[in-house]
Amino acid sequence: MTERPLATVYGYPRQGAGRELKKAIEGYWAGKVSADQLRSTAAQLRRTTWRELADAGLDEVPSGDFSLYDHVLDTSVMVGAVPERHRAAVEADALDGYFAMARGTQDLAPLEMTKWFDTNYHYLVPELGPETVFTADPAKQLGELNEALSQGHTPRPVLVGPVTYLLLSKPAPGVASDFDPLSLLDQLLPVYAEVLTALRQAGAEWVQLDELAFVQDQPQPALDALAGAYQLLGGLAERPKILVTSYFDRLGAALPVLSAAPVDGLGLDFTGAAAANLDDLAAVGGLPGKRLVAGVVDGRNIWINDFERSLATLSALAGLAGRVDVAASCSLLHVPHDVELESDLDPEVKRWLAFARQKTAEVVTLARGLAGGPDAVAGLVEDNQAALRSRAESALTRDPAVRSRTEAVTDADARRPRPYGERAAAQRARLKLPLLPTTTIGSFPQTRELRVARADLRAGRIDQAAYDERIAAEIRQVLAFQEEAGLDVLVHGEPERNDMVQYFAEQLDGYVATQHGWVQSYGTRYVRPPILAGDISRPAPMTLRWTAYAQSQTSRPVKGMLTGPVTMLAWSFVRDDQPLGETARQVALALRDEVADLEAAGSAVIQVDEPALRETLPLRAAGRAAYLAWASEAFRLATSGVRDDTQIHTHMCYAEFGEILAAIDDLDADVISLEAARSHMQVARELADADYPREVGPGVYDIHSPRVPDVAEVAALLRKGLDAIPVERLWGNPDCGLKTRGWEEVRSSLRNLTAAARQVREGH
Ligand code: GLN
Ligand code: ZN
Repeated sequence: MTERPLATVYGYPRQGAGRELKKAIEGYWAGKVSADQLRSTAAQLRRTTWRELADAGLDEVPSGDFSLYDHVLDTSVMVGAVPERHRAAVEADALDGYFAMARGTQDLAPLEMTKWFDTNYHYLVPELGPETVFTADPAKQLGELNEALSQGHTPRPVLVGPVTYLLLSKPAPGVASDFDPLSLLDQLLPVYAEVLTALRQAGAEWVQLDELAFVQDQPQPALDALAGAYQLLGGLAERPKILVTSYFDRLGAALPVLSAAPVDGLGLDFTGAAAANLDDLAAVGGLPGKRLVAGVVDGRNIWINDFERSLATLSALAGLAGRVDVAASCSLLHVPHDVELESDLDPEVKRWLAFARQKTAEVVTLARGLAGGPDAVAGLVEDNQAALRSRAESALTRDPAVRSRTEAVTDADARRPRPYGERAAAQRARLKLPLLPTTTIGSFPQTRELRVARADLRAGRIDQAAYDERIAAEIRQVLAFQEEAGLDVLVHGEPERNDMVQYFAEQLDGYVATQHGWVQSYGTRYVRPPILAGDISRPAPMTLRWTAYAQSQTSRPVKGMLTGPVTMLAWSFVRDDQPLGETARQVALALRDEVADLEAAGSAVIQVDEPALRETLPLRAAGRAAYLAWASEAFRLATSGVRDDTQIHTHMCYAEFGEILAAIDDLDADVISLEAARSHMQVARELADADYPREVGPGVYDIHSPRVPDVAEVAALLRKGLDAIPVERLWGNPDCGLKTRGWEEVRSSLRNLTAAARQVREGH
């Protein structure tokens, strides 16, 4: 084994510089690209990626991290965990069967999709049950390994670890909900053993197993399963060297388990909260004789590394393992490909940014610095420190007006002056709403015409005035429909918004947008998160014009509609040079001004959406109280500057609160709307059990499908809501916004919703 520290990464963006993969896959779905063409595009992209990584100076490249849809789905295929309902499709055609599992077909539901830890990447949840029979299908892993080998690389196959795979799974439909997928470990391990042996025989020296589930708090049985699994895999007669990796947080209780296991190396994250791994590692006596892959380059954010700090971390680690190699903290899947493509970015800001390609170069530099001492990379470290200084001293990142304003914030600023009871009376007197008032969550269908108008405006085919007229006409139509359907609190429909975060990011100073900064969200869906680069301020009102216009067209109240501070952070790249709470506070103050402007212009109801509140919850319980404290303070800071008789709504797109119930109460919103239709108002009961004191709109119309609920069904859900929430505090609304739906279903569904509300109202 060479002692020179090696440079590697765990994974790379899959789509290609020109998003070739997305085009090929969508072309295949549309019947315009053949299966062979798709496979050859994919192989070409892998070739280009490995070439790029090797040219950058990586010693070991990942293989098997590529995917036509999702790497957890690929793992399900590798272990033969194809759900019963998809089996015929998979047997008829492996590729079409794969996409059937991913996206469903006319008759077959897809696998459920959920967030990959606390990122915005979504994976397909494996469905397992006592009847599951695992069989090894290593074809994809072997194929990609062979490709990389034949192209002259040193590939390290990357697999989801077996224990994490089970912990990410759920009971298949029809299986008892208390079925524990971990009970299948003994059946799964022989399959992993077979795959490992096959990879070894095909020429893999090392294999990487991601045991990511252990950066979350796990009960003892899961830790025991981890110990047992690696005892077994480590003891295989013919196997590659095993690197067990973790990232996104510290390994915690799993670190002593894995450091004692008969595996050959560990990958640990040393960025952000995971930096605690350094002390934890020292506490277990390091990894004598083993390989440590040190993730010192943040793989999920877009800022350049601090070389001095990373070199210090690496030298502190040097004595703690048999050898230390350098990597990005996690797969680079979570960052865009190449900052050099950003020709419109301010060069000063561009200097502060590193996307996947730049991060790979950073890893190589740090490995050289670790090998040869800081002097070996002195010039690069100097440039790096100069770029960091330029960031720290820039007027963009240090706006004195913003700073003095956040510093002056008091507790009282983040509290409504009067308690809910008094506010509710004032709001009732002002709004004069009926019992069981009805409303929607904000957006109405984003039609093709609207998207075309936006594209036309960007391309200069129509001018701003023509575009604005198009938006105004849409708003009039949305309002007319709502009046006719009999909704009580109207919305303008959000036709002017491309996206609920981007729309605001484009208007706030301190945010920076990219042209090519695409990141995979799921399958062929890519998003381009804006960058919170500097101190945030609002140069001008953002929503006032269209909200005021809408209010001028109707005598009913129109809800102002804003995106909350936590969601503005969660769906952006955040600053790493100050606490998240500080950035949230800056965004909150900008929103507070918007709320004030809306109120002054006559808005009596203002909604601040926080659909991301729960998804950014820290992975480990230890960090949660602090997160929830700044998150709810930011929401209250945005919303507490209003009069008693201005009604603040919030909205969240989920039905299970679990441990954030108290935090939701802490938001002190007058009305909260939530997803509830599919869980039969479960959330209403949970809120009632927790004595939630304010108004609630549990969704009574499931907007995730084109199905139109009938009046009786909606009425039954409303009555169910009334079993938990008193009639004075219950609202009728859909589960979420309607932007992805078609007008026809929306019309019928909302008419049924208002009819059901009238019916239930009459009984009171
Ligand atoms: N107001 C937004 C909408 O209706 C809320 C979307 C969301 O919660 N994700 O589209
Ligand atoms: Zn929602």
